[in-house]
Amino acid sequence: MTRRISIFGATGSIGTSTIDLIARDPGAFDVVALTGGGNVALLAEQAKALNADIAVTAHESHLADLRAALAGTGIEAAAGTIAIEEAARRPADWVMSAIVGAAGLAPGLAALETGATLALANKESLVTAGPLVLATAKQHGARLLPVDSEHSAVFQALTGEDIAAVERVIITASGGAFRDWPLERLANATLAEASCHPNWDMGQRITIDSASMFNKALELIETREFFGVDPDKIEVLVHPQSLVHALVGFHDGALMAHVGPADMRHAIGYALNWPARRALPVERLDLARIGQLEFRAPDEARYPALALARAVMDEGGLSGAVFNAAKEEALDAFIEGRIGFMAMAGVVEAVLDRMSGDRSLIHAAITLDNVRAADQMSRLAAREIITTGL
Ligand code: NAD
Ligand code: MG
Repeated sequence: MTRRISIFGATGSIGTSTIDLIARDPGAFDVVALTGGGNVALLAEQAKALNADIAVTAHESHLADLRAALAGTGIEAAAGTIAIEEAARRPADWVMSAIVGAAGLAPGLAALETGATLALANKESLVTAGPLVLATAKQHGARLLPVDSEHSAVFQALTGEDIAAVERVIITASGGAFRDWPLERLANATLAEASCHPNWDMGQRITIDSASMFNKALELIETREFFGVDPDKIEVLVHPQSLVHALVGFHDGALMAHVGPADMRHAIGYALNWPARRALPVERLDLARIGQLEFRAPDEARYPALALARAVMDEGGLSGAVFNAAKEEALDAFIEGRIGFMAMAGVVEAVLDRMSGDRSLIHAAITLDNVRAADQMSRLAAREIITTGL
């Protein structure tokens, strides 16, 4: 039986890895929608190769190019945020949520409302609106599957276990590009230096977030939301080899670790085939050759993002939406050369401080409108703080 599949963020790192897997199994999938950003040539090529029903670019200004590239194929072309949400309402069995940033939330919710299984790479959905995402899935009988490697690892370690027997959840972090740099050098880290990951090949934004550990900060919150574990049971462990992705500790003292190559096709393939396990084209680890796995505690001074995430988990409500929006703005400012690498955490902290005074905003009901309002206000605050200086 063919499965109807849509991929949001098809042209990105996770999107292309997803397509790599489904293209190996021709005839098994019926591709409904593919979406992308400015790279319409790639989007059109993917839509043609997979014979999708519709291709959508996020940018209205690229619609003419997309149409031209798809002329004569019978594949529909559309553009804009609303068109992406509409594409997410088209019936599909399995939907990959791999847009980067807060923009991934609304299409993911729309897909869940159709009852589709949502493979969630877009961690920002759970950071900004975890309770809303889970409630939407529940209300529509839709299933949510993790794609972030650590969360896929925790999910796998929990299979057949009772969540009440869980004592702790440990997510690992490579430590990013600067794990071995002297602390004083970090303030002067350049964009090129922050854009190289030692182990993973990923989109630019998450690669920089890995260097600053904002990625792990988002993942702490993602762990809390996805699995409903108390924040004080979630730990971060630096593991430079990126082969153990997460460990779950149980009341009897046992730790179940998930070990696998640093290849996102593993977590994507697990979500694609779940609940079955099928063969995947990933490297088989030769542990005798690898020899050693190292672990160490994260240095909080080097990674202030982690303490900020803890504060966000304590505060709850819409503080995750504030945190993520401020982080996205700070990241843009770093990419554009307007602030230094270590200033990103300072901006996020200042925005959290400022917004935490507005209790009615932070503790408003977690609806899409309120998440968007908190996101917008935090972006404005971040821009002001970035322009006027900390
Ligand atoms: P990427 O930058 O490579 O790709 C992002 C995709 O989203 C592209 O298709 C892009 O065109 C699209 N996009 C960007 N902005 C958009 C907008 N405003 N509206 C609509 N579409 C937009 O990113 P990625 O590395 O593939 O990451 C995607 C998501 O998966 C992120 O949330 C990231 O945190 C998460 N994730 C990625 C990896 C990885 O290995 N790359 C691992 C774990 C989790
Ligand atoms: Mg991850």
